[in-house]
Amino acid sequence: QPLRVAIMGLGSYGTRVAEAMQTCKMAKLTGVISGTPSKIKDWQSKYNIPEKNCYNYENFDRIKDNPDIDAVYIITPNALHHPQTLRVAKAGKHVICEKPMAINAKEGKEMVDACKNAKVHLLIGYRMHFEPKTLEIVRMRKAGEMGKILFFEGLSGFKIGDPNQWRLNPKLSGGGAMMDIGIYSINGARYMIGEDPIWVTAQETKNNREKFKDGIDETIQFQLGFPSGAVASCLSTYSMNNLDSFFLNGDNGYAKLQPATGYGPIQGRTHKGELTQPHVTHQTLQMDEMAAIILQGKKPEVPVNGEEGVKDMQIIDAIFQAVKTGKKVDLKV
Ligand code: NAD
Repeated sequence: QPLRVAIMGLGSYGTRVAEAMQTCKMAKLTGVISGTPSKIKDWQSKYNIPEKNCYNYENFDRIKDNPDIDAVYIITPNALHHPQTLRVAKAGKHVICEKPMAINAKEGKEMVDACKNAKVHLLIGYRMHFEPKTLEIVRMRKAGEMGKILFFEGLSGFKIGDPNQWRLNPKLSGGGAMMDIGIYSINGARYMIGEDPIWVTAQETKNNREKFKDGIDETIQFQLGFPSGAVASCLSTYSMNNLDSFFLNGDNGYAKLQPATGYGPIQGRTHKGELTQPHVTHQTLQMDEMAAIILQGKKPEVPVNGEEGVKDMQIIDAIFQAVKTGKKVDLKV
């Protein structure tokens, strides 16, 4: 029996996940939650979803009485993740939640607690944690093939379009580029270096105050310090297209990914040569692996649980604080 999943939020990423799930071996799309009846109709006919597995944002608590749904994948605007996770947990269903898991660490912790109390899994949509070239670099780093790790550089950005979209509304997004795309460099710094940072410094640049209002960061450069002495230097932006690069260096060698986090194919090399692991559809692999975590207790190489999500939220909180104060912020994640 596969993991039977309902998708909440039938927007652009929800659509991508649904398509990718069609070739999953261990996960199956069996339900939808949406505020738009016409989208529900489309999805019902496209994916053969029965009427009894369709919900809206008012009535989805009733999912608790539905034996054909094991988990809900929340793919809505960032600020909705917290209240929706709490409701899904209360309904006794596992939660898969998109990144950023919430709009701050406090909300993230409440989500972790709610899922613990309800005895359901909380997994965050960190698709790179399953990506083969990424995992090869993690393997090499763990095996000591780059020597003592000293430096990571993460560059994450794209040029955002429509000024009226939810991503530019702080009430729905909780922030700008940092929440949306900068989080890849934060998360990447942690899994590439293999440690959690103990301090943060950050500087903001805002060239377009019309488009990027208060509470929406356009470009932030930030630095992270790690217990071993390794440092990371990163850039998050909504103003540069095709900015997607990771670089890791130790005293013996390097790894470079570019593109590092796009939908693929990911490309990269190390001091030992090209990375040749095959391209896989990230969301297909992610959903199969998440099904194995939930159904079989599989332990992923790089964790994707709620606690991992909270760490990234703590770092984002600290980055925003460092931007505001201009001071170095110590943190314990
Ligand atoms: P989107 O705007 O395309 O879709 C959002 C969906 O939420 C829409 O269908 C919209 O109707 C629905 N929605 C429900 N309540 C809403 C409300 N009150 N206001 C606005 N919309 C509402 O956005 P998206 O690109 O699909 O992003 C959704 C989530 O997925 C975000 O958290 C984003 O960070 C995440 N995401 C993750 C990845 C990834 O690679 N892991 C990629 C893209 C997006």
